[in-house]
Amino acid sequence: MGMAYKLEAYAEALALPFAHSLLPMEMAATALGTVEFVLGLCLLLGVNRRLTVGLSLLATCVLTALTVWIYVAEPVQDCGCFGEAITLTNGQTLAKNVVLLVAALCLLYRPLAMRRVVSERFAWLASTYAWCYTIALAIYTLHYIPVLDFTPYRIGVNMRAAFDNPEQAEAERLPVNFYVADTQTGDDLTWEILADTSYTFLLTVPRTETADDGCCDRINSLYDFCQDRRYAFCMLTASDSAGCADWKDRTGAAYPIYMAEDTEIRAMVRSNPGLMLLKDGRLVWKWGNNELPDPYVHGNNVAQWFTPSGAAPLLRLVLWFLIPLLLVVIIDNVLVGTKYYRHHLFKLHLNKQKAMRKKIVAGNWKMNMNLQEGVALAKELNEALAADKPNCGVVICTPFIHLASVAGVIDSNVIGLGAENCADKVKGAYTGEVSAEMVKSTGADYVILGHSERRAYYHETAEILKEKVNLALANSLEVIFCIGEVLEEREAGKQNEVVKAQLEGSLFDLTAEQFAHVVLAYEPVWAIGTGKTATSDQAEEMHAFIRATIAEKFGKEAAENVTILYGGSCKPSNAKELFAKPDVDGGLIGGASLKVADFKGIIDAWK
Ligand code: PEP
Repeated sequence: MGMAYKLEAYAEALALPFAHSLLPMEMAATALGTVEFVLGLCLLLGVNRRLTVGLSLLATCVLTALTVWIYVAEPVQDCGCFGEAITLTNGQTLAKNVVLLVAALCLLYRPLAMRRVVSERFAWLASTYAWCYTIALAIYTLHYIPVLDFTPYRIGVNMRAAFDNPEQAEAERLPVNFYVADTQTGDDLTWEILADTSYTFLLTVPRTETADDGCCDRINSLYDFCQDRRYAFCMLTASDSAGCADWKDRTGAAYPIYMAEDTEIRAMVRSNPGLMLLKDGRLVWKWGNNELPDPYVHGNNVAQWFTPSGAAPLLRLVLWFLIPLLLVVIIDNVLVGTKYYRHHLFKLHLNKQKAMRKKIVAGNWKMNMNLQEGVALAKELNEALAADKPNCGVVICTPFIHLASVAGVIDSNVIGLGAENCADKVKGAYTGEVSAEMVKSTGADYVILGHSERRAYYHETAEILKEKVNLALANSLEVIFCIGEVLEEREAGKQNEVVKAQLEGSLFDLTAEQFAHVVLAYEPVWAIGTGKTATSDQAEEMHAFIRATIAEKFGKEAAENVTILYGGSCKPSNAKELFAKPDVDGGLIGGASLKVADFKGIIDAWK
């Protein structure tokens, strides 16, 4: 409420049209306080570090600009940053914000250097709790009155002593400016009120125009009660005589209305209206408009209308905030320490990386179908995928003679086209060969190299494949490079060794930039065309090994980005399980790519 008043003062200085409607100010004050508090907590706990730092810098920039204006134009005497708890001069406020701005800029330089106190997994819980706590506290405070009172009008203060000794009152932050005058005569009534040894009720209405008159019946019955008991009751306001007359009209007020200074009344009770109870010059209690006492309910003994709270409110507030938060931090740290949770986090990390990689389902038609059949198949696939967009990249690799015709019937935005091979020579007298440049000229963008059938039947060695890879890349083709062990090698437990040698022999002379245009396909030779599939765990184990090998050679980033396909009797029935593995990014499909229904079934495994 104090901040809402402060915003009202700013709005007034800027002559904003809504300067005198309190509700938007209350909402703005709540939003400002909440955002500041949550951002502060997120900074301390290292939650969403980049976002938090960005927003903190933004907030600091806006607030620093505001304080420059306050410093130069002096629309208010105190910025209101800390409410009544700490008052700063406009110069001090500016200096504070410049320091905060520098700190925010330092954080911007290296946000990720901030230590995470809660893991990424639980960060949302900590920040959600902070949001809920702050908003709930703000609503509670607006509905009642602040839980902590930093104003000079704190429950228990001896206002008479403050009046008697203003110098000491100033030093102890007691009410020094309490001054009440008669609305009509202007007579000073301060001492009369403070000298009263019995109960005195002061109804505080800073502005009658913005005051909530919904509680006027209760106020009037309270006044009747005071009349019966001979307790003093009066209203303090800063509104002019027209405002007072309007209040009387609206509420039927019969009690005396006196004048007091606007800021002082607002500080007395953070509610409009509010009620303050004095006895023997001491402030014994105060109420907001939503909790005004009712003699019919609370009885005739005024002393029983309030119960001083037990534990210090500050301690309660802090504990209500800290205990649940500490629980989150402790549970988080205990969980993070467990093997299970680490494994879980690791899996999440892998899945996140996988989500960033390109997924591909590529068909390898091999030596099947004549030109007409091939074009018809490509057309049919194109129609099926146009009607039902795939969730992954789709490539078909066809015999050379199909390429140009197929390129003419497929939508290259949906289906990529590739060859099954290319020559290891640039051009010239190599009867029967097709160069990488020729492949590219048909409209194809991919080429399969290193397929086990070519290694076995056409004796393509690592050296030959190296040449082919270089030529394909030089002609802007993406290479689908196949690797995989034969059955004897697996049975001898040599699969890793074999695959690593295949990678080293043909790809390890590439630069990281060139390697970015390579897709790997792990195809255990014993599973190709045999109906025998590697289990999803076997596939994952090998894919993870391949990725680790790539990381060693080309770095972590290249390894995280490279797409690794599985090939070998992949069908609609097993594709989903294989593709669910963190390191399997799709498939290279032989037999099943020759029928649209089967191939599409595999493509749909990504849905
Ligand atoms: C292939 O030859 O690349 C392949 C994976 O074949 P299939 O799917 O028929 O096992």
